Amino acid sequence: MVKHIRNLVFDLDGTLYSENPDIEARFGDKIAEFFLCEQKMSEDDFKNLIKQWKSRNDADISSIVELGINPGHFMDFVCDIDVSEIEYNENLKNKISLLPHNKIIYTNSTHAHVGSVLKNLKISGLFDDVFTIRDGGFMLKPDKKSFEKFFGTYSINPAETAMIEDSLKNLKTAKDFGMTTIWVTGEKEKYPFVDYKVKDINEALDIFAK
Ligand SMILES: [Mg+2]
Repeated sequence: MVKHIRNLVFDLDGTLYSENPDIEARFGDKIAEFFLCEQKMSEDDFKNLIKQWKSRNDADISSIVELGINPGHFMDFVCDIDVSEIEYNENLKNKISLLPHNKIIYTNSTHAHVGSVLKNLKISGLFDDVFTIRDGGFMLKPDKKSFEKFFGTYSINPAETAMIEDSLKNLKTAKDFGMTTIWVTGEKEKYPFVDYKVKDINEALDIFAK
């Protein structure tokens, strides 16, 4: 069922390393630091902004631009987090090295953050490319426009491509484009747009190993 797959697309956070609430919380802390300390926003205005964001379903950072903030500067600030607890996993390195596929990381974060994570995992040289929010023109997964930019950048046929992700929303869009979808999760639920459910990245890679 996966013999036709030529391209493997990997999410980064919560996918190449297991979900980590401490790391996730650090992104939130950096957002607060950005607005409260760097932008000198009041606590009340910040709370309202977060409330507004949570009520919006569109997945872009136009609200940042609307505030007159450079989205690149914002993302660089927010993604500058400590990831030192992410540890080398020999199994992961070996499995990725053995896969003959075209391998691309597709993330809503920044090149610097990807670099830190891959360095800790010691898998920096094993991917063909890294596609970040900057490469996507500051559109975020699961926005279809971000996926279109991604496919166009690499001339990728979605039908020959598998996406390995921990975000269901992103996998839903991936399936709309005809990709094969692999959900990295500890959850039990099943969804029609998820082709494979795995407990971690190692199990995901086993699907494609000969
Ligand atoms: Mg993720």
